[in-house]
Amino acid sequence: MSTRMGAKRPARPPMKKRRQGGSSARRPQAEAATSLSATKKVERGVIQIPQSLTVKELADLLQVSPAQVIKELLNNGIMANINQTIDFETAAIVAQDLGFETKEAEIVEEVLAGVSAGAEDRLVEDAASLVPRPPVVTIMGHVDHGKTSLLDAIREANVTAREAGGITQHIGAYQVEIRGQKITFLDTPGHEAFTAMRARGAQATDVAILVVAADDGVMPQTQEAIDHARAAKVPIIVALNKIDKANANPDRVKQQLADAGLLIEDWGGNIVCVPVSAKKRQGIETLLEMILLVAEMAELKANPTGPARGVVIEAELDKTRGPVATMLVQRGTLQVGDNLVIGQVSGKVRAMFNDRGKGVKRAEPSTPAKILGLADVPQAGDTFEVVSDEKTARLIAASRAKQKQAEAATAQRAVTLDDLFAQIQAGQMKELNIILKTDVQGSIEPIRTSLERLSDENVKVSVIHQGTGNVTESDVLLGQASKAIIVGFNVRAEPGARKAAETGGVDVRHYDVIYNLVDDVKKALQGMLEPKYVEVIDGRAEVRQLFKIGKGEFIAGSAVTDGKITRGDFARIYRDDKIIHDGKVASLRRFKDDVKEVATGYECGISIEGFGEIQPGDIIEAYRKERAS
Ligand code: GDP
Repeated sequence: MSTRMGAKRPARPPMKKRRQGGSSARRPQAEAATSLSATKKVERGVIQIPQSLTVKELADLLQVSPAQVIKELLNNGIMANINQTIDFETAAIVAQDLGFETKEAEIVEEVLAGVSAGAEDRLVEDAASLVPRPPVVTIMGHVDHGKTSLLDAIREANVTAREAGGITQHIGAYQVEIRGQKITFLDTPGHEAFTAMRARGAQATDVAILVVAADDGVMPQTQEAIDHARAAKVPIIVALNKIDKANANPDRVKQQLADAGLLIEDWGGNIVCVPVSAKKRQGIETLLEMILLVAEMAELKANPTGPARGVVIEAELDKTRGPVATMLVQRGTLQVGDNLVIGQVSGKVRAMFNDRGKGVKRAEPSTPAKILGLADVPQAGDTFEVVSDEKTARLIAASRAKQKQAEAATAQRAVTLDDLFAQIQAGQMKELNIILKTDVQGSIEPIRTSLERLSDENVKVSVIHQGTGNVTESDVLLGQASKAIIVGFNVRAEPGARKAAETGGVDVRHYDVIYNLVDDVKKALQGMLEPKYVEVIDGRAEVRQLFKIGKGEFIAGSAVTDGKITRGDFARIYRDDKIIHDGKVASLRRFKDDVKEVATGYECGISIEGFGEIQPGDIIEAYRKERAS
């Protein structure tokens, strides 16, 4: 538990005494208490305190007894025990009360740099110690084509590999064994989960199984799944499901797949296609063998030695056991007792279970394991790494939380048309990925061709996903994961998608004229795009009565009902909920005086530029146009 001293802390007396350096007996021993030597380097009474530490660690750092720290904390209204974690602000107050000058330790960056540098080292060293690892597979496809049934069939086909008495548990992933080789399946089918993980920066999947029902063929989500897998550069194997059905038509499906850009082996392509029946349990073994074959070609390897790294498959808060998370180890071996940091969460592996619910001590690459012992619930798609000790884990997690806050404050969009040119100029952009959504099928090809024709020697323009219908959340996730912009032609964004785009910083543009759409992208590529403006509504006023101010000239006596009205604002006039005019606030008066703005609750006289037909009951909505960030 972390204790934080809030803003309610009583006003501090001035610092009592500035400690001088030298050989004072109270000078903390720099190297004794912790392996993070820089956290406690003290120069002339200035003490560096990490972003979080325990009461005991603080006492060691200050070379006082823990009881003394506890007493100082109590003086400041905080009850804490010796093992409790306190944050920098709290520790700093105690240290200052005890006569130290404090400084926040910069160690975290060093440690972080060390962690990633270590990772790089391991990568280099890896080449010699790499060993083959099981492939990690995700099942995708259109709804009702049999994804869940296939996952079940695969799980059951593997009876021999089950450990005695073990019942398969749902932990988000499971492993099967065929001819002595393992395959790991992620248990949440669908490209949405797959891309959501990618959007968080994790690529867990090595092979995508595309389930296509032989009686139904390629459907919109089949196409989406193909595009999502391709955007991630993950090899695809087609499982042609439901071949037991009388109306199954494999040839038709193969033709449709070819049209969708997947040329299967029978047709001279390189996509493996396996006819299966999840229901009748047919073709499952062949499918598994094909997965091994494709995996072999991909030469999937990892170094099983050394500290583990990997990704969170799923996580939840268990009522009795606290945070539990299924981790997929991608490198190294995860062991009970390991200290980890997962995004902004730290923890220690207290217990670990495999997909049969059996307690295990270690998990090697491509192995899913459910772990207990985290301080908080991480998010699926977060990556984890094992670090040397508990304190380092806590420090890194705290530093990341802080970094995240800072990033949130200056949220930047991944790619936008507005800053495209700058990115191209900076050499950061070689490819412009576009997701294209249109109202009708007929518009797709001409727009796609026109867009891709804009490619030049500097930037390649690729439409990575296209389709009809509104912009969906799944489109936005793909945009985020693949750094793509989304252009909609005669379609709108679904509410969930709009929200996701805002949080994920994905640029979604809407057009109703093809020329404008293509022209905007062209201008953006050349750095000539006009900045995008967004509307900010200032306020609304209701027209109560008209006052004559001159010959045939009226002013609308109005009450501001919310926000404020400012002279020079743009203004829309609504009558019976319909816009009847869109113009500008020409004059604004209170009594006889011209004023700059009028706030909620006040009455005023408003005239709208070039509009004489205003009537009592009309609503005036005032807005500004601001340059989008
Ligand atoms: P999902 O939405 O892709 O996960 O599809 P499900 O696995 O839920 O399957 C949808 C329906 O298709 C269910 O009624 C299944 O019983 C049925 N189904 C799945 N696989 C087969 C198959 O191989 N043959 C037949 N005849 N039906 C199947």
